[in-house]
Amino acid sequence: MLDLVATRECLACASGGEAVLCPDCAGEIGARLKALPARNTLFSAAWSLGAYSGAIGALVRRAKFNLDLRAADLLVEQLQSALREGFPAPVDAVVYVPTTPWRLMWRGFHLPERLAEVAADAAGVPVVPALRRTWGLAQAGRTHAERVAAGAELFRVRFPVSGHVLLVDDVLTSGASAHGAAAELLVAGATSVSCLVLAAAGPLRRVPVGIS
Ligand SMILES: [Zn+2]
Repeated sequence: MLDLVATRECLACASGGEAVLCPDCAGEIGARLKALPARNTLFSAAWSLGAYSGAIGALVRRAKFNLDLRAADLLVEQLQSALREGFPAPVDAVVYVPTTPWRLMWRGFHLPERLAEVAADAAGVPVVPALRRTWGLAQAGRTHAERVAAGAELFRVRFPVSGHVLLVDDVLTSGASAHGAAAELLVAGATSVSCLVLAAAGPLRRVPVGIS
């Protein structure tokens, strides 16, 4: 809390001022989820709060790579206010995309899990830790082809799910890991899967080869 009071710059663009988020960045992030086209993907629908190249992406990078808890808290608050009126579609369970255990230890917080709790609260359903990571290679810095090849092998089912499952992650880049997670959720018993992320790097790509 003291940190928040002491902040004299925007956490997204680092411009000076009194606010944690400057008016420009606050206006850009807005208060509503944006639908991402989901045709030809494993998802029945997808939403993001903003673009990875914009203010929301800057906040996510600050939270994840600078380990800035103020940015993480701010992201959670932004999602909470976007979902204040409830979730845009009926959901039976919320599942977060799990990170690797060593990353979790290093960061000390798991942003996708916190976001999943916010979404589950808004939808009035439980968070189910349905997936686990299979191995420790991170997606960052890999080519699209490498990500697609790895995406299908990244996750395994821990707990069964049923009905419509909302998959939550902080970022959507190639979509390879999201598709890998969705494929496992469909194996785990989900009848359909939708996707909610804070920051999308672009449109959700078609189902990658090797995932069905
Ligand atoms: Zn700003």
